[in-house]
Amino acid sequence: MSLHGTYDPQNIFAQIIRGNAPCFKLYEDEDVLAFLDLFPQSHGHSLVIPKNAQARNLLDVDGGSLAKVMAVVQKVAAALVEELSPAGVQVAQFNGAPAGQTVFHLHFHVIPRFDGENLGIHAAGKADPEQLEQLRVRLASRLQG
Ligand code: AMP
Repeated sequence: MSLHGTYDPQNIFAQIIRGNAPCFKLYEDEDVLAFLDLFPQSHGHSLVIPKNAQARNLLDVDGGSLAKVMAVVQKVAAALVEELSPAGVQVAQFNGAPAGQTVFHLHFHVIPRFDGENLGIHAAGKADPEQLEQLRVRLASRLQG
């Protein structure tokens, strides 16, 4: 059911876009916002979202917005690789609650993967805000440069 439905403008990512909720911002332009995940699956877990498309998921979004988001997904992946030297990078995107989606504003996960870590789809706990801020500064300087 959650695959279909009406876009809720009160969802947490919509609030972040409007500046009504905080985020650890890595990159922003007219169309796209990237920020650190508060419940990271690994060090550097980032999210990339469209700002202007009211899309719940991949099926809702127009191609132009999707292309702009994907260009930033690539930039964020490159910054994570340069800054954190992971062994791999995972890009993930879920559509509908049964597929693992919990926030119904289209988003792409960009997750550095390090040798020996488990591949989960949801994290156990909230990150330490001080650590997130330190990481944010390092990555944002590469992305906003
Ligand atoms: P999904 O399960 O694909 O819907 O992913 C939603 C992601 O958003 C999860 O990884 C959450 O940890 C993350 N998340 C939820 N609220 C926030 C928030 N306020 N700031 C940053 N990340 C968030």
